[in-house]
Amino acid sequence: MKRIVITEFMDEAAVDGLKDNYEVIYDPNLADKENELFGLLETAHAIIVRNRTQVRDKLLEAAPNLRVVGRLGVGLDNIDIPACKERKIDVFPATGANDAAVAEYVITVVMMLFRRAYLFFTEMTDGSWPRTKLMGNETSGKTLGLIGFGSIARETATRAITLGMNILAYDPYLPDDHPAWVQAEKVELERLLKEADAISLHVPLTDETKHLIDKEAIATMKKDAIVINASRGGVVDDQALVSALKSGRLAGAALDVYEVEPLTAEFGREMKELNNLVLTPHIGGVTIESNIRVSAVTAQNVRQALGD
Ligand code: NAD
Repeated sequence: MKRIVITEFMDEAAVDGLKDNYEVIYDPNLADKENELFGLLETAHAIIVRNRTQVRDKLLEAAPNLRVVGRLGVGLDNIDIPACKERKIDVFPATGANDAAVAEYVITVVMMLFRRAYLFFTEMTDGSWPRTKLMGNETSGKTLGLIGFGSIARETATRAITLGMNILAYDPYLPDDHPAWVQAEKVELERLLKEADAISLHVPLTDETKHLIDKEAIATMKKDAIVINASRGGVVDDQALVSALKSGRLAGAALDVYEVEPLTAEFGREMKELNNLVLTPHIGGVTIESNIRVSAVTAQNVRQALGD
């Protein structure tokens, strides 16, 4: 029986389905137990991971029989693709299976930050009635700037258009004649930063995108703009963003991904006093529904690649 090692959380039904044909070792916290993981990989044919497991030389050396990597999600920055290729190991992301979850996350935080409804809770429960104190903004009529116009950004645009938003997008790698451009005005980054009311990042982390949103970029944004990063930590310079929120240079932000994950306690404390920042622990792509879809797609990919 071929062995599959699953190192991070996966829908139990998909795990159980794999058990019919394979020896399955499932521990959602295995990514954090390197020695145990490496021992289990000695005879493994497939590994299923999210983004915490580092599939690089060290792990690959511990797994001489590995043929398949199933990725429960899409970003591949924790997987050394050339090293896998060299060893003839196939890598399967769950392309498209969590697009809707991330797109809905972006729309949720855009509306939260514009409307600011969450700020009333303490005052209301303290007995106040602050009806005009924190008047919020409407989403309709605002401009959403999407940096990167791939799969998730397009799903986000579809939803934003139905809310009456105008869409600007910057993606120099998406061909001019790509049908996706019917949904957005193709613009240069400078114009997007200058004109957008909400700026959302949807690029991979590369040398080119590292700190794409830094102090200088923030300085060109509208003062009442909001920034959302549900792409990859490091695309935004988190320190520069927090400084801009503290000084009032930006109206708000939502961060789902960080340069260091999990957040350090020190950085967490630094952000504590901010009431215009939404923080989530890399859950943009994770919903009950997307977990089921992502897990089913990954199980199917691994099954097809391994055979019985
Ligand atoms: P995708 O490959 O479909 O789209 C990425 C787009 O970015 C492409 O169209 C590409 O041309 C563009 N791009 C690349 N470099 C660029 C640059 N320098 N400037 C502008 N555009 C550039 O990817 P996707 O599936 O839409 O995912 C987007 C991001 O979201 C990835 O970083 C992925 O890891 C991340 N993600 C996060 C979560 C989460 O839970 N927060 C979940 C899923 C995906």
